[in-house]
Amino acid sequence: MKKSIKDINLENKKVIIRVDFNIPMKDGKITDDNRIRMSLKTINYAIDNNAKVILMSHLGRVKEESDKEKKSLKVVAERLSQLLNKDVIFVGTTRGSELEEKINTLNNGEILLMENTRFEDLNGKLESGNDEDLGKYWASLGDIFINDAFGTCHRAHASNVGISSNLESGIGFLVEEEINKLNLAIDNPKRPYAVILGGSKVSDKIGVIKNLVDKCDYILIGGGMAYTFLKSKGYNIGKSLLDGQSLDFCNEMLEKYNEKIYLPVDSVVSKKINDDTAIKLNEEFDNDDIGLDIGNETIKKYSEILEKCNTIVWNGPVGMFEEEKYSNGTKSLLEKLSKLDSTVIIGGGDTASAAINFGYSNTFTHISTGGGASLELLEGKSLPGIKIIKDI
Ligand code: AMP
Repeated sequence: MKKSIKDINLENKKVIIRVDFNIPMKDGKITDDNRIRMSLKTINYAIDNNAKVILMSHLGRVKEESDKEKKSLKVVAERLSQLLNKDVIFVGTTRGSELEEKINTLNNGEILLMENTRFEDLNGKLESGNDEDLGKYWASLGDIFINDAFGTCHRAHASNVGISSNLESGIGFLVEEEINKLNLAIDNPKRPYAVILGGSKVSDKIGVIKNLVDKCDYILIGGGMAYTFLKSKGYNIGKSLLDGQSLDFCNEMLEKYNEKIYLPVDSVVSKKINDDTAIKLNEEFDNDDIGLDIGNETIKKYSEILEKCNTIVWNGPVGMFEEEKYSNGTKSLLEKLSKLDSTVIIGGGDTASAAINFGYSNTFTHISTGGGASLELLEGKSLPGIKIIKDI
């Protein structure tokens, strides 16, 4: 078991908490504050235990000077302050005397949020490249480090692995919950066990398919990635998404695991995105059809399989769910899963957004906050941001 925030005395200590405030924004406004809300438990625990709280997070990618304005965490500090009903001191830098002075004058129970850690990527990817000196410097700002940013645990960055290498460290409540819940699908999952895989690219999911195909009973494929599988079986997929480099892999998997891997039998197609739609069987595609969602027959077939399963993991939407016309497959499977008494784990990223936006936020065993991180855990990899933290 990893050392957690509960195993460390926080009283009077400067506690650096790496949170995941990588929230979606549009025109300078936060469009979904779920990730901020998810961090409150750990932050409140630190406040209640009389810590001086120093928060760090990244927000998007910072490639050039002009990205800085759009990627500032200032708006996040304001929202966090509303959610906590408490002042949040925001410091618009990632290093230097102003930051150090403000940290050193923090009282117990006060909170400071530092600017986007990826501002450091402008000077040669210091944050994303896990620069040793930067990790040491950030560690020097506090007494204890808590990693509660599950979404970046699959990456070794200065603001997680870099700091952990130099400071007593533990995991926060969110990371602990992610590990515990995802383990339900990793360590002896209750059978039958199904994995639903969708999204756009097969190549992103090769690792998870290879790792899970022997462990699970069914892999149900949907989304854009289904068409590469269908193409490898010789179907005309029209102008649907194709991940040409993965054709051989798909072919190999289908030959080897024919009885486990299920493909859509029909699709919602359009000639152009958001044009008129039709439902077509795999055999019926025209050269200019684009498959954008699974069709009713597929929903029925997948639902029958899911009904039998005791553990279900889902990563990647089964259609272009952001567009109403192509959201029925994803919505129908969510609805189906919501009725089951099984362990249901929704991988992060788009699948999590779909589940939350379509009203299923409190329905499942777990909705992960980290797309890439949850996939890597399911692939059987250890995550560097967690691995560096000592066991107790
Ligand atoms: P990923 O990041 O690989 O999980 O892919 C998620 C994206 O896949 C979402 O933005 C969906 O809109 C998209 N997607 C799902 N199904 C399809 C499809 N049939 N054609 C094109 N894009 C799709």
